[in-house]
Amino acid sequence: MSCPICARDADPKYTPFCSRRCADVDLAKWLNGSYAIPAAVTDVDEDGETGQDEVARQ
Ligand SMILES: [Zn+2]
Repeated sequence: MSCPICARDADPKYTPFCSRRCADVDLAKWLNGSYAIPAAVTDVDEDGETGQDEVARQ
């Protein structure tokens, strides 16, 4: 199975995605499509460990 976001191999931990980052990207797509919330969700980069705390800091 491959990640629907970047097509790399999926990580069982984040199935069907390869990483937390891709899972967040997908979630953000859904959220943006449904609720059009501010862009705080998009600031997830290299380490893939950011998320909620990014929102809190803004
Ligand atoms: Zn991916």
